[in-house]
Amino acid sequence: MGNHLYDALFGRHEGRDADFLILPDGGRVSHAAFADRAARFAGALVAMGLGSGDRVALQLEKSPDMLAVIAGAIRAGVVFLPLNTAYTPAEVAYFVGDAGAKLLLCDGRAEATLAPVAAKAGAQLAVLNADGTGSFAEAAAMAVPVPVVERNADDLAALLYTSGTTGRSKGAMMSHANLLSNAEVLVDYWRFTDQDVLLHALPIFHTHGLFVATNVALLAGARMIFLPKFDASEVIRHLPQATTMMGVPTFYTRLLDDPRLTRDLAARMRLFISGSAPLLAETHRQWQTRTGHVILERYGMTETNMNTSNPYEGDRRAGTVGFPLPGVEVKVCDASGVDLPAGEIGTIELRGPNVFQGYWNMPEKTAEELRSDGFFITGDLGMVDADGYVTIVGRGKDLIISGGFNIYPKEVELVLDALPGVLESAVIGAPHPDFGEAVVAVVVPEPDALLDPQAIRAALGQSLAKFKQPKHIAFRDTLPRNTMGKVQKAALREDFKGIFAP
Ligand code: ATP
Ligand code: MG
Repeated sequence: MGNHLYDALFGRHEGRDADFLILPDGGRVSHAAFADRAARFAGALVAMGLGSGDRVALQLEKSPDMLAVIAGAIRAGVVFLPLNTAYTPAEVAYFVGDAGAKLLLCDGRAEATLAPVAAKAGAQLAVLNADGTGSFAEAAAMAVPVPVVERNADDLAALLYTSGTTGRSKGAMMSHANLLSNAEVLVDYWRFTDQDVLLHALPIFHTHGLFVATNVALLAGARMIFLPKFDASEVIRHLPQATTMMGVPTFYTRLLDDPRLTRDLAARMRLFISGSAPLLAETHRQWQTRTGHVILERYGMTETNMNTSNPYEGDRRAGTVGFPLPGVEVKVCDASGVDLPAGEIGTIELRGPNVFQGYWNMPEKTAEELRSDGFFITGDLGMVDADGYVTIVGRGKDLIISGGFNIYPKEVELVLDALPGVLESAVIGAPHPDFGEAVVAVVVPEPDALLDPQAIRAALGQSLAKFKQPKHIAFRDTLPRNTMGKVQKAALREDFKGIFAP
């Protein structure tokens, strides 16, 4: 028994004077101060009537206190659900109701709008501002720090909602063992030590910034430069003090736009990691030229944390997400669940201690996607090559079926992205009266590039079979993306759904 997740991440740092968080203004939070705050927040949760297995929803700006509430929840055995700060009150209402949360914590500015939301869901509402003020902070100041509540390895630690890229967000039930086993593997795989300083500019409402970045730093005893959000200038200001950074591809492309990014700036850095969305080969190449570092790309998801990673030592291959992590099994299957050989594209399935306990309140969906033998059907399409590298080619829901042929958008996107003057592209299917679906290419030109659809068509004709060639090419200044840098293909499909209407 015990509470292994709390003990491993927070408990063993209690009383340590060493720095844990480095704040943008140069302020520091020691492990001892952080642990004290977390214990008081645990006390406040208990004082408000929350106990083992109860849920607390957090829609908070990223701050040391938001992280301390999460630590306090784990300490008190309370299940937490961190919510995207971009969610509207209607969306928050859905999550609070779905999770049956007893308490909703919000920023003071949202209190008035969220009060009726909490009341309707039968939840209490309390305020915690990023500067450490608010009614919940006051409750914590009065609270008696509570002892660590015992939890089993398989007990629920967090209810983490997926990003909602392919449909309504689902609550992934993550156990203590899911989170701890994954963090242990990553510390080792990426060689984290207490000498590391992790530049942390990711949100902590998402698995990437919370369970990958933060848990790894905590387990290794590393310090974090804790930035409230990504801002290229701020990252550049702090980079000389950092040894590692984890980011989404848009972090890297925005940093490349800044002329101050140089080799000297990254002199102390030992590792740049990218994930949550595909990293363009061009970004990979430019980053290496500008900084001398090869970005390590990896693949994860809300339901499983981290699955695969390019190697720390050895060949980091652009366009791939590397090898399955130790303990994680990856296989590629056809539509009927039959295993496919190396090099063939199919659905990626995963098994390992990182795989979640199922979707909250969705037994049918859980049964559909979590096989009885423990394999989770991810919905991502990909392949494993003869050397064991995994490549993601896209999502099953984005596959285009035109005239009976399967078209992987990524194959077309790679050809488009390589054309001179093309910055990036997104390929989708739109309903077509003859073919069922036909290919639409949304192309973002490089600044000042003049692109001509005829020339693009001619170039595509050289390398793609006719049925894969776009029947419509549109130009946009940017692609729609969510906070994690994921292209919102559902929104694009909506924009182009009538383009081939008879
Ligand atoms: P929803 O499941 O609600 O539709 P989502 O899948 O976008 O949303 P997340 O769990 O945040 O929610 O994202 C996981 C997905 O992100 C993976 O299934 C995969 O499609 C994509 N992904 C993550 N890392 C990479 C990567 N390195 N390359 C390509 N895709 C990636
Ligand atoms: Mg998903």
